[in-house]
Amino acid sequence: MNAPKTLREASCADDYDPNSMAVDQARALIRRFLIPVTAKERVHLRFALNRVLADDVISPICVPGNDNSAMDGWALRFADLAADGDTDLRRVGDSFAGKPHTGAVGPGETVRIFTGAVMPAGADTVVMQERATEVPGGVRIARGAVTQRGQNRRLAGEDIKVGQVVVGRGQPIRPAELGTIASLGINEVSLFRRLRVAFFSTGDELRSIGTPLGAGDVYDSNRYTLYGMLARLDCEMLDMGVVPDVPEELERTFATAAANADVVITSGGVSVGEADFVRQLLDKLGEVVFWKIAMKPGRPLAYGKIGGAHFFGLPGNPVSVMVTFYQFVRDALLVLQGRRDVAPVPLFRATLAAPIRKAPGRTEFQRGILSPAASGGFEVRTTGDQGSGILSSMSQANCFVVLGTDTGNVAAGEQVDVQLLEGLV
Ligand code: AMP
Ligand code: MG
Repeated sequence: MNAPKTLREASCADDYDPNSMAVDQARALIRRFLIPVTAKERVHLRFALNRVLADDVISPICVPGNDNSAMDGWALRFADLAADGDTDLRRVGDSFAGKPHTGAVGPGETVRIFTGAVMPAGADTVVMQERATEVPGGVRIARGAVTQRGQNRRLAGEDIKVGQVVVGRGQPIRPAELGTIASLGINEVSLFRRLRVAFFSTGDELRSIGTPLGAGDVYDSNRYTLYGMLARLDCEMLDMGVVPDVPEELERTFATAAANADVVITSGGVSVGEADFVRQLLDKLGEVVFWKIAMKPGRPLAYGKIGGAHFFGLPGNPVSVMVTFYQFVRDALLVLQGRRDVAPVPLFRATLAAPIRKAPGRTEFQRGILSPAASGGFEVRTTGDQGSGILSSMSQANCFVVLGTDTGNVAAGEQVDVQLLEGLV
């Protein structure tokens, strides 16, 4: 079969069932329609954290720039050391970090040297100070203080060589990249431009914080979780507020959002019953497919293009918003940002501390608390009630317990997959 050209063609292909779309299939299908940003801008290193490098950083220098000492000790010629006893050497100078010894070290000579100080010419090895005793005019090196030429000497360029690609295009800038680039003396980098993401909440019942609640109203929390998740991904944000379930208002907001952003994210309005008029609206404005994903929470999901913008229609339930964002939107945004090697957050195994009930046929993302187990390794338990409206479960959790499609009930003591909500970098 020819590769489908449009989203609708693709999602209607034989192996795709819009009424029961597997998580991986939906993720893979979305991926095929993502084209990363290409526009670049030059930015001072201080403002590059979390952004994505648009051009390779090539080193103009060697790091370290000179052979230098890895220890506080004595720089000497390895060939001078007696194999069968102590060796006395004459001290001819000192080499400090930032203040090298200018002369050379000849046979029978040594230079007092400190960590990071340049190796004087002629010396090839450093003996650590603990293996030497100062004597009048020099130093006595204990037998066997070093075993080979070059010991305790760091070589020029052993970290980075001139002309080497040090950080590659597509690499997100973390603290390690900031430091590495700074170590080359580079103060400006070429980055992909930030993604612009517009988002709004839909629902007649929603009120913004700071306004009173009427009977049956709820405060709009989704725009705050979305704001937080988008801010962590360093997106430029366009918060378009709450839009009631009124077709004309929705149409106007969708059109404005799509005209001003790379990505439009909404919550609410994609569940059965509500979806019909949103579907008609989006049919008019772009190409959007509605899926029932075989997952819990987060069953309804819409994805497509409105003009040039990618559109993610997330469910309204607050936990579903976070789960679908982390499982679909996050990866898509990383790809669009120009990052290389984008992969879902990795899973690892932990021991289940209390049983979980689950029906096979869908992937579940239960909120979990992972902690060190008394017997070693890690154990995980759920946060309790897993209703998709219980946002406090996300706040208590430090991981998702990911239960695959075919998994049924799981007993305490069994191994389950977990996915951490926070990372080190
Ligand atoms: P919907 O997907 O629009 O049918 O909404 C499902 C549930 O999520 C309903 O109980 C809504 O009131 C609730 N909900 C929808 N949007 C939000 C929001 N922005 N903040 C908090 N709850 C919401
Ligand atoms: Mg609604």
